Amino acid sequence: MALNIQQIRKDFPVLSQKVNGKPLVYLDNAATTQKPVQVMERITRYYSEENSNVHRGVHHLSQVATEKFEEARKYVAGFIHANKPEEIVFTRGTTESVNFVATVFQQFIGEGDEIVITAMEHHSNLVPWQQLCHRKKAKLKVVPVNEKGELELGAFEKLITSKTKMVAVAHVSNVMGTINPVEKITALAHKKGVPVLVDGAQAIAHLPVDVRKMDCDFYAFSAHKAYGPMGIGVLYGKEEWLNKLPPYQFGGEMVDHVSFEKTTFNVLPYKFEAGTPNVCGALAMETALRYIEEKDIENIRQHEDEVLEYATGKLKKLPGMRVIGEAGKKTAVLSFVADGIHPYDLGTLLDQMGIAVRTGHHCAQPLVERFGLSGTVRASFGIYNTFKEADVFIGATKQALDMLR
Ligand code: PLP
Repeated sequence: MALNIQQIRKDFPVLSQKVNGKPLVYLDNAATTQKPVQVMERITRYYSEENSNVHRGVHHLSQVATEKFEEARKYVAGFIHANKPEEIVFTRGTTESVNFVATVFQQFIGEGDEIVITAMEHHSNLVPWQQLCHRKKAKLKVVPVNEKGELELGAFEKLITSKTKMVAVAHVSNVMGTINPVEKITALAHKKGVPVLVDGAQAIAHLPVDVRKMDCDFYAFSAHKAYGPMGIGVLYGKEEWLNKLPPYQFGGEMVDHVSFEKTTFNVLPYKFEAGTPNVCGALAMETALRYIEEKDIENIRQHEDEVLEYATGKLKKLPGMRVIGEAGKKTAVLSFVADGIHPYDLGTLLDQMGIAVRTGHHCAQPLVERFGLSGTVRASFGIYNTFKEADVFIGATKQALDMLR
């Protein structure tokens, strides 16, 4: 079913403003998405009617907040097809989720062990593993990326050895939009008994996510990249893994019993949620994911794919253009460089014409360097972007190139 994009745009008041005297064309969705009124109203309602700390009080408001918080957990579990709500840990976002696993996992890592990542990881799914390797004198192995921006699966298989203790891979690349074959990757890793963490930051708003089908051991994402608020995200972990792992942080409701000599810890998922959680964030994340569900992720995907294909086709017709990332399967992201022009200069001129794109290495510096570059211009699409906006973006890019050349 085709989405009514004009109707959807009315849900996002920020889109109707002018920037530098021109209608805003927001193409920085991979960095963060805009928020619909439904999410903003949810936040207001929470602080107007429901605010209280959770899991702590017998009073009415505390019970309401706790109930809603746990309902949000249940909804998120259903949204990504987890087996049970206990497998959902609320975090600050993808970066915290990966740091969490890379920290508590250290007891399973020894000298000479190996962790396998890919050449297209965001720094958030690279640096935590690299630092863990430094601490433990382990080795970080990197699966290469081909010219099209796809993982070399043959190399992947060879890199997983008897020393491998973890595979960490992006579901979708934030620089190129490549959709990685995560089901195949988990099958390869599991054949050798290795767990897999999938960084879902760029997938959650664009693709159906089914952690059971994927059979990943961990899945991380942030609400703000899926029309939800900043400061809240998720770490999904298979129950058997979460039970095996020690707490990440200490304090608050993550305990069972505390004495000066000893502390025993709470059950899942509370064992991993130290301190007052972002209750409002969890509720607003639920609203954002419900928004996606209501529009249907398959409809969203189709619309974004069509706009992406349209914009890519037109961009490639401009002189001296090089698209970075032309994988067979990709979504929502169009990265490019223009011959002889610094991405920053192009991005600045586009901003003057009301167009928000990102320039630079997009927190994936090794990947950008692999293509012999220091940065790209990245246009990234969301549910509300239109073909007309793609035209404006292409026209403005052409104009900027003429000015800069
Ligand atoms: N992983 C990927 C692939 C990303 O694109 C991002 C953000 O751009 C992150 C991780 C980090 O997400 P956050 O800053 O929400 O923690």
